[in-house]
Amino acid sequence: MKNLESYVRSIPDFPEPGIIFRDVTSVLQDKDGLKMAIDSMQELIKDLDFDVIVGPESRGFIFGVPLAYNLNKAFIPVRKKGKLPCETISMDYDLEYGKATIEVHKDAIKPGQKVVIVDDLIATGGTIEAITKLVEMLGGEVVKIIFLMELKGLKGREKLSGFDVEAVIQYE
Ligand code: IMP
Repeated sequence: MKNLESYVRSIPDFPEPGIIFRDVTSVLQDKDGLKMAIDSMQELIKDLDFDVIVGPESRGFIFGVPLAYNLNKAFIPVRKKGKLPCETISMDYDLEYGKATIEVHKDAIKPGQKVVIVDDLIATGGTIEAITKLVEMLGGEVVKIIFLMELKGLKGREKLSGFDVEAVIQYE
């Protein structure tokens, strides 16, 4: 069987010249790649004491839900502004060009709950930093943050110092 890295398709100069895009769809579209990705992420949290998984739209959903289901935990979606129907709290964060806003339902996390945050990839870390703030505003405790892939050169971990951060695959 191939190793997990070999299922990740790397596309030079996408979405702009000089950027190497790490494509997660090539992992998902292969049954062995998908299984290996979920199993490898699960290894990072299987013995951890926690209550809920929080994942951002949309690729955080792809990885977060199977992990929550397998480990018998709840899943809390963090969505782009305007998508959630009940009372929310929101957080603005910087993108490479401009700003974005994400939201979570106010009643989604109870004070004192232990939270694992899951996403496909950490680049600058801005998205996940904003999610840690939302979790803490609701009284949750972020006990771990996991990714399938980390683009180390963008130093996203520096935004998440103080948190336990792990990625299955690291690119320089
Ligand atoms: P950050 O907030 O800069 O860490 O951006 C993280 C988000 O950007 C991730 O959720 C990814 O979906 C997306 N992203 C950035 N670079 C890549 C890439 O090379 N491949 C796939 N997704 C990427």
